[in-house]
Amino acid sequence: MDHLSLKYCNSLTEYSRFVTREVGIGDLKLGGNNPIRLQSMTTTDTMDTVATVEQSIRMINAGCELVRITAPSLNEAKNLENIKKELKGRGYNTPLCADIHFTPNAAEFAARVIEKVRVNPGNYADKKKFETIDYTDSAYEAELERIRTRFTPLVKICKEYGTAMRIGTNHGSLSDRILSRYGDTPLGMVESALEFLRICEDHNYFNIVISMKASNTRVMVQAYRLLVAKMIETNRNYPLHLGVTEAGDGEDGRIKSAVGIGTLLEDGLGDTIRVSLTEEPEYEIPVARELAERYSKRINHKAILPINGPLPYDPFEYERHETNEVINLGGHHTPRVIADLSMKEEITPASLFAVGYNYSVPLDKWNLTDLAVDYIYLGDKTINFEIPGTLGLIYNSQVWSEHSRHERAYPLFCGEEYFKSKEWSSKLNFVAVDSSVLTDDFITRIKSESNVCLVLDSFNAHTMPELRRMAIELRQQGCEVPIIIKCNYKDLSAEQFQLYSSTDLGGLLLDGFGDGIWIKQKECVSARDCNSTAFGILQASRTRISKTEYISCPSCGRTLFDLQETTQRIRERTDHLKGIKIGIMGCIVNGPGEMADADYGYVGTGPGKISLYKGKEVVKKNVTSETAVDELINLIRENGDWVEKPAVLDAN
Ligand code: SF4
Repeated sequence: MDHLSLKYCNSLTEYSRFVTREVGIGDLKLGGNNPIRLQSMTTTDTMDTVATVEQSIRMINAGCELVRITAPSLNEAKNLENIKKELKGRGYNTPLCADIHFTPNAAEFAARVIEKVRVNPGNYADKKKFETIDYTDSAYEAELERIRTRFTPLVKICKEYGTAMRIGTNHGSLSDRILSRYGDTPLGMVESALEFLRICEDHNYFNIVISMKASNTRVMVQAYRLLVAKMIETNRNYPLHLGVTEAGDGEDGRIKSAVGIGTLLEDGLGDTIRVSLTEEPEYEIPVARELAERYSKRINHKAILPINGPLPYDPFEYERHETNEVINLGGHHTPRVIADLSMKEEITPASLFAVGYNYSVPLDKWNLTDLAVDYIYLGDKTINFEIPGTLGLIYNSQVWSEHSRHERAYPLFCGEEYFKSKEWSSKLNFVAVDSSVLTDDFITRIKSESNVCLVLDSFNAHTMPELRRMAIELRQQGCEVPIIIKCNYKDLSAEQFQLYSSTDLGGLLLDGFGDGIWIKQKECVSARDCNSTAFGILQASRTRISKTEYISCPSCGRTLFDLQETTQRIRERTDHLKGIKIGIMGCIVNGPGEMADADYGYVGTGPGKISLYKGKEVVKKNVTSETAVDELINLIRENGDWVEKPAVLDAN
């Protein structure tokens, strides 16, 4: 496949920022060698000048360098002038960006009065009818001409006024035309932006930033990579605005954003970040800052050996790397989770509570939650109680010898130690390796072992790329031993821990590597939070689904109900529906398109009115908001996806 030879970043092993052309947004310079810029979007009604100004100020004070405001019609576009004036009057010159969907007249007005406009190529010139039309080449060309006619006036205005533009493709709102020709694919997303970009270039207008957002982190990462590959091929270098759409709120929203955005940042891609959380917009900025700042000193990382030869996989298409099956690792098994309890003073049944096992004394039974780990690593510690039947224990090899008769107890060897040992498990042996151990000779010997699982470890500041190089090396040499990806963190804030681990592990999972994950952390978070992060990363990379997924929009001036409160209410009732995806979208204009592949949708249609969707089909229109959550549950029930919430057992 010619994909494999496409380059999508400067280096897969050495941190190097992909330098883009510098774009001016008022006084703000973005791209080039400028720092990664942080931005967010208001959620107020754009016609409410005071509320929008005050929210913008909260965002700016939090560190927001570019404020985006929705302009659904000409009226809101006109009010941007008042907002700008008021902000200026209060001493704030932060540039503003108008967010446009469907309304060229609003875009054309805004481009004259503020610093930037964002257009969505999926709906600037097209209304979505969810139709598949079979275009002939000439009909397709005629469509492109129609877009050119509709889009050119805006390009000319932006050029004349020195206004910047973002061509912001969204996976969920590709036009019927693009869908018909390219399908619902990363290539379709890239082509959608390129159609608009070519028009800008024909007018010698280059003050452009591009984004390729999706709620599905795999699609998002592949689309950005493909965009960069196409830019490299055609000598283009427009700055990239990174974001995962409809990421949700709280822990899930942060993990999902880090998996998508962080994976790209690791490879030096990205000039500005917007983290879309269903929370107050000023809360997005610290998350974006943590993500971006991690790379400010990355350039000095310890050297990683280069990758020889072509990649043994396609970085633009997801495929899980096939490995041997060893008990429940590798083969067709979803990635396993290993909890590290080796640093605990004493391990009791209560210690397992944090890793998903609740012991009921009256019933003398273990109750598993959806976040029950598969293995615990005990190091040199021992335990003296009966473990749950689904759990495996990993001991350091010397200690394991004393427990080797215990069912489901396995040794961990340190690299070469495995070959020197006189005793092994007949079922499963873990072998920890870092890049110094993983020589050609070692790989040749280990790949013929049938009861081994490798634990890839890295202590390089450029962790993810070093682990990726090790996984690539194994694959290139035909080694099909399952691999656990291990990451180590110490003395981080809870937010840093969550974002860093999501980036490092998520990046590998999105490339199809990893039959399991193991997070070792000291002084960062509780064992319970660490476990929740581990399962969250698997969920966000779509490699193991353990909970309900919420695709909720961040809300904006179009939102017709309190999105945060509603998301909470829906969560409370449905968070046990493992594997179901629920879209919670603020407006009917973009909501249905942008809720991606949600199984059910809750979409605001008017004040106090909600429409409910099954997939892309609207099934209950204009339900009152008081009864809408109940109706949603009825709909889930009618479709056979409802189960009752399990009763919670006491831990002890
Ligand atoms: S879906 Fe949400 S964020 Fe998107 S335009 Fe509608 S209300 Fe705004």
